[in-house]
Amino acid sequence: MTEFANLGVAVHKRPDGSTPCDLLVVERPVVEPEDNEVLLHINSVGICGSDVSVWRKGRLAHLALEGPLVLGHESSGKVLRCGKNVKHLIPGDRVAIEPGYPLRQDEFAKVGRYNLSDQYFCSIPMSNGCLQRYFTYPADYCYKLPDNVSFEEGALVEPLSVAIHACRRAEVQLGHNVLVCGAGPIGLVSLIVAKAMGAAKVIVTDMLENRLEVAKSLGADFIHKVSKGESPMETARIVENLLGCMPERTIECTGAEAAVQTGIYATRSGGCLMLIGIGPSESINVPIVNAAVREVDIKGCIKYCNTWPTAIQMISSGQVNVKPLVTHRFPLEDAIEAFNANLTGKGIKIMIKCDPTDRGI
Ligand code: ZN
Repeated sequence: MTEFANLGVAVHKRPDGSTPCDLLVVERPVVEPEDNEVLLHINSVGICGSDVSVWRKGRLAHLALEGPLVLGHESSGKVLRCGKNVKHLIPGDRVAIEPGYPLRQDEFAKVGRYNLSDQYFCSIPMSNGCLQRYFTYPADYCYKLPDNVSFEEGALVEPLSVAIHACRRAEVQLGHNVLVCGAGPIGLVSLIVAKAMGAAKVIVTDMLENRLEVAKSLGADFIHKVSKGESPMETARIVENLLGCMPERTIECTGAEAAVQTGIYATRSGGCLMLIGIGPSESINVPIVNAAVREVDIKGCIKYCNTWPTAIQMISSGQVNVKPLVTHRFPLEDAIEAFNANLTGKGIKIMIKCDPTDRGI
C-alpha cells in the first residue's frame, strides 16, 4: 500500500549500548489488515511513564530493547479499512484501542483473565506500539466510541482502565474511605475511579504540591504533602487524622518503598492494600507482620482485562470526567519535543496528535 505516508515514533538502541536510547520520528510501512484486523488512522496517543522508561533506560523491568521499537499504547483512532471477518466495525468508526491481547486462548484467557496470558502489548519490548499515523491491529481489541466521547477521552481509556482493574481487585465499595498514594496520572485516575465506585472520602498523598492541587481539583477530599524526613508511620497517622478514621482501602501508585510501608500502616485492619506502582527493585522491605496480624490483604495487579467497555460507558455517561488530565498537546511531527516536555515533569498527560487534519480535543 503506497497511498499513505506513515510516520511513527521509535526508540533505537545506540550502537555502544549507552542510554538514553535514540528517540526518532521515522517513516514506517503501512500494513494491509488481515482478515480479523483493521487499519486505523490514529488520532491521539498519550505519553506514558513506561514509554519514557523504554527511551531513557532501554528497558521496561526485565524486558530489554533488542532493536527499534515504536512507542505508544494509550490511543484512539478512526477505522480506515476492515479485514473481511470484521463485523462490529466499519470504515469511519471512531475507536479506542486496547493495547494488549493474549497470543493464545490459554487457561488465563479462557477465564477472562487475559492480562495474565502471554500478550502482545503495544510499546513493551518487543511489540511495536501505536504512536504512528497508521496502525494495523486486531479488530476485537478496538472499541467503538459513542459520539459524545472524544478521541482524547478514548486514549485516556487506557490509564482509566488501570484504575478500574485495580479498584475492582481491591473491591472498593460504597462508603469506603480510600487512601491513594501518588498524584501522578495513575494516582489521579485511581482517585476518579474510587469515587465513581462509591468511595465516601478519598485522600491523596504525594511529595509534590502542584500534583496535589490537581488531585484536589479532581475531587480529592483531602490531600497530604509527604515531607522528606516523614516516616511511614507518621504519614499513616496524618492520613488517619485527616480522614477521621483509617482507610479501608489503599491504592499505592508510586512503587516507592516508603509509600508501600505507609500503605500497610495506614490501612484499616481487615482492609486491602492494592499495589499498582512498580519500583525499580524486585524486593523491598515492608512490615509484613503488621499486615498479617491485622488481616490487611496485600494485592497486586498487572495491566487490565475487560475494562474498555466499562471505561467508555463511564466517560460517555458523565460518571467520570477525564478531560482535565490532558494538559499539553503536540503534533506527531513534534513528538521529540513532547517527550522532552514530559521529562520536565510539567503537566499531567501529554497527548500526541497524529491526524494532521484534527489537532483538537
Ligand atoms: Zn501506560
